[in-house]
Amino acid sequence: MFFAKTPILDFLTRHLPNLSPRLRKGLFGLLALPLFGGVAAFAIAPDTDTDGMLRETVTSTITLPAATPTEIAPLDFWREERVLRGDTLAGLLSRLGVAAEEAQRVIAIARKHPALNKPQPGRTILARVSAGGQLLLLRHLGDKQRLVSIQRQGDALTAKDEIIQLETRTLMRSGVVNTSLFSAMDAADVPDHFASQLSEIFSADIDFHRDLKEGDQFSVLYEAQFYNGQMVQTGNLLAAEYVNGQDLHQAVRFNSRYYTPTGRSLQRAFLKSPMAFSRISSGFSNARYHPVLQEWRAHRGVDYAAPTGTPIRAIADATVQFVGSKGGYGNLVELQHSGAYSTAYGHMSRFGKGIRRGARIKQGQVIGFVGQTGLATGPHLHYEFRINGVQRNPLALNLPTSVPLEARDRAAFNLASAPLSDQLRLIRGHNLSAFD
Ligand SMILES: [Zn+2]
Repeated sequence: MFFAKTPILDFLTRHLPNLSPRLRKGLFGLLALPLFGGVAAFAIAPDTDTDGMLRETVTSTITLPAATPTEIAPLDFWREERVLRGDTLAGLLSRLGVAAEEAQRVIAIARKHPALNKPQPGRTILARVSAGGQLLLLRHLGDKQRLVSIQRQGDALTAKDEIIQLETRTLMRSGVVNTSLFSAMDAADVPDHFASQLSEIFSADIDFHRDLKEGDQFSVLYEAQFYNGQMVQTGNLLAAEYVNGQDLHQAVRFNSRYYTPTGRSLQRAFLKSPMAFSRISSGFSNARYHPVLQEWRAHRGVDYAAPTGTPIRAIADATVQFVGSKGGYGNLVELQHSGAYSTAYGHMSRFGKGIRRGARIKQGQVIGFVGQTGLATGPHLHYEFRINGVQRNPLALNLPTSVPLEARDRAAFNLASAPLSDQLRLIRGHNLSAFD
C-alpha cells in the first residue's frame, strides 16, 4: 500500500517539478482518502478554540469505529519548525509550506513585531497552513513569554503581540494509516514532525518504506503548551504506539530516550534507513540490468528514490572516511562505524555542513543531500552497507542493538512508564479489542 502511491509520487515529481513538497503532500492527502473517522479528519477553521478541539479529538477517536471510511482529506496541516542558527523568517515560512506571496505579507507584518521578525534559534514557529500554501494561523513564542500570533480572517491577516502565561497539557491522538504515516497524522491534526519522530523511534522494528499495511494504526501522546485554549508550541513525544498488521509496537519516553513498556531500549546502534521518508527503487542483488551502462551488473547497495535536496542521515555514529567525487558514485560520503561496519552514500547533490575527512558524526546527522551525480538516471541515494569492506544487504542483516535500561533506573522507569502505557491502552482498547 505504501508502494501503491509511488506511481503518483513519480508522476508528481516528473510532471510538477516546481510543486512545493508541502503542496505535493497536500495532493497526496487529497488522493489518499484516509480511513479516519470523525471530527479530526475535517478541516478546522483557523479560529477554532483549541480547547474544544482537544475534547473533540479525544472522544471522536475513541468512540468511532476504526474502519469508518471517509473521503474527507485534510485540507490544511499543523506544522512546527524549530528555528536554526542563521534562519530567516522567509526560510522558516518556506519550510512551513507557506506560499511565496503569502510569505511576503507575513514578512511585512513581522516588521512591526521584532520577536517574529528575528526569531531566536531554538524557539519554534507553529503554523496551520492550507494545502495551497495559505497561512491560517501562526504562533511564535519569543523571549520573556512574548507571543506573536498571526491569524487569518477572510483575506485579512492580523497580528497580535502579548505577554502570556503558558499551560502544559498532554494530547492524545490516534488514527488509521491508509497511504502514509504523514497523511494519517495530518488527518488527526498531529504536527508533521511527530510522524518523523515516530518512524525514527520504531525504525529498528518497522521499515516505514516497506512494512506499512493498509489499516495500520498509530497513537501518540505528546506535550503541548497552550495559552487561552490555543496551542502555542508542542513539547516532547511522551509515548507512541504503532499497530503494523498484527504486530503491536509501543514506546515510552524515559530520560530523553525511548523504551518499550517492558524496558527494552529502542535506541539502536544503526538506523534502519538513511532516509526519513522515501522509497526503495532498487534493492540489493548480485545481478541486475544497469540502466545507464546498459549491461547486467551486480547492484551491491540499495537505492532510495527521493527528490534532489532531500537530507541523507548517517545511520550510526561514525568517523568520515571519504568525502568527494568517486567515479560512478558521483559525490560520495563513506563512514567508518564501530567494529567492522562502514557505510557509503552516493550520487549526492551536495555534502552536509562540517562533513570532512576525519570528522566525527552522530547517528541521524545530515551528511549530505540527494542528487544524481555520477552514474544515475534520476535523483536517488545509492546506499551501501559494508562489513570488513564487503557490501552486504542491509535489509537482510540483523544488526547489533544498543544500550539497555540500566538496572538502577528500573524502579524509576516503571513508575514513569506505567501511566503512559495505561493511556496508550485506553486509546487502543476502544479501537482494537483484538489486541487486548
Ligand atoms: Zn544504486
